[in-house]
Amino acid sequence: MEKSLFKPLTPAQIKNEKKKSNAVFQSRQELAKVIYQMKPWEYVVVPSDIRIIPEEYRWSENFKKKADYKKLITVPREEAMERRLRPQDSVETKLSSYDGKERGYGWVGNRNNTLRLVPLVVAYDGIELLLNAKDEIKVDRYASNARFSVPARKTDKNYEGDLLTIPFGDVKDYERAKTKYADWIDLDWRCSCEDNSFMGNLNTNRVIPETRACAHSVAAYKKLKQQQVSKRNPVSIDPFAFPKKAAHELVQKMRNNVIRVYQNGNDAETKRNLLIGEQEVLLSIAASELGFKNLYFFDNSTRGISYCEVYIGPK
Ligand SMILES: [Zn+2]
Repeated sequence: MEKSLFKPLTPAQIKNEKKKSNAVFQSRQELAKVIYQMKPWEYVVVPSDIRIIPEEYRWSENFKKKADYKKLITVPREEAMERRLRPQDSVETKLSSYDGKERGYGWVGNRNNTLRLVPLVVAYDGIELLLNAKDEIKVDRYASNARFSVPARKTDKNYEGDLLTIPFGDVKDYERAKTKYADWIDLDWRCSCEDNSFMGNLNTNRVIPETRACAHSVAAYKKLKQQQVSKRNPVSIDPFAFPKKAAHELVQKMRNNVIRVYQNGNDAETKRNLLIGEQEVLLSIAASELGFKNLYFFDNSTRGISYCEVYIGPK
């Protein structure tokens, strides 16, 4: 795989290759709008006095560890099956009101009370990985679980992991098919990368353990879904949101059209790309401004989604 694919342009490359936009912005909300409206050949320079990470978290890393999240609606197993509960049932009520202080969305399982967290940037990175490394992603199903091997985005190694309690739904057997409406709540994942092994709960006031989605577990889930399309028992519920074209363009511009100026301790100014935490803040502000449904969608079709539909949405 061409690893440079996932590398953003450096500040020097951005300056050389693009034209500086004269858009003005004085807050992170205005900045999110400017990046969204900016042409792909333009760039903006974000001065150090524009705060992107909310004050209470101070740094990007701290925001990644401690930020709150939007909670998807979940109910006990029997009720979930009866109500045919799906992840997107929370879209209108919960996911369209981000204020830039949350990191994606999450939910707590029924069988174990681990909090599953899905940052918006990770949901995007998983799809990007799927599209660019699909032949190298290996997923083997065993019972209701699957073992995966997914290439790293920036190095030559592979990450291994498991998807657990996958919501398979037998399309021909109504009673068996119903369990998927409860199983997605108990979906869990493990990955050998460090993104989700971090014990964030030790540093937050949340008292339950948490598992964060990483690009590898998201890509593996999507790949499994495609593998199962022609099978009798497809994966028809998917709690990892798909980015639409608007989200794709926004993330690409955040990575390749923005130069962030920051102050070192000794007053020297340095230039860098937007950090992941900063991208998450701006993406969630955009989700609030434009509506979550205009940036992401949940695919719960049994036929799976074709590669050409990614970023556009199901027909
Ligand atoms: Zn991983």
